[in-house]
Amino acid sequence: MIKGKYDAILLDLDGTLLDIDLDQFIPAYVKSLAGRFSDYIEPHTFSAHLFGSTITMVNNSDAAKNNREVFYEDFCRRIGYSYENIKPVIDDFYRNDFPKLSCWGRKVPHSEAVIEAVLAQKVPLVLATNPIFPPEAVYQRIKWAGLSADQFSLVTTMDNMHFCKPNPEYYLEIANKINCPPDNCLMAGNDTLEDLIAAEVGMETFLVDDYILHRKGHDPDYNYRGSLEDLANFLKEE
Ligand SMILES: [Mg+2]
Repeated sequence: MIKGKYDAILLDLDGTLLDIDLDQFIPAYVKSLAGRFSDYIEPHTFSAHLFGSTITMVNNSDAAKNNREVFYEDFCRRIGYSYENIKPVIDDFYRNDFPKLSCWGRKVPHSEAVIEAVLAQKVPLVLATNPIFPPEAVYQRIKWAGLSADQFSLVTTMDNMHFCKPNPEYYLEIANKINCPPDNCLMAGNDTLEDLIAAEVGMETFLVDDYILHRKGHDPDYNYRGSLEDLANFLKEE
């Protein structure tokens, strides 16, 4: 190794373990959710507030509130309904409508090989997906990827995290949760900003470039780079 080099491996989901066209998926998701709220609020206004509150959540730096609290505090204030009012609609959406969006996600080759390589080393495996979604939406996307949430020591969601990518605090919070120094972690993902910023807290990084998401102004700066197959082989190296 790599075998024995790291005490934990963090993997991104969208565009890394799951082939998902975010340019199609996000509008379909927002349209579907806005439709559910059409009795409360006009869909375009709803969408604008959804994006606005997501930005507020992503930019939050108050460690006293988890992402869910930050999002709904802002969102409920914007739309003028209490969380208790909208919770049944949201829960029903994630139970019955979100699964229909699975047409936008596809399993990718070599994802299981990556997971098996990590599990064989008996080190914590973290699903380090941007925690802007509730657990149901993350667990369903894990299924779309042909994987199981049980394979991960930690799956980050809006309920269990206090920061979002690309805030480096997100990676520190993971390291604390799994009780592992960041210097001993490897973060692998497809995003030149949101995933590679893990280096700022001392993690090593692997840019998975099958579906690379190259953010303007963020030239890739990584320890390793390759396909998901390359990552699987890298993790298996003696
Ligand atoms: Mg990604």
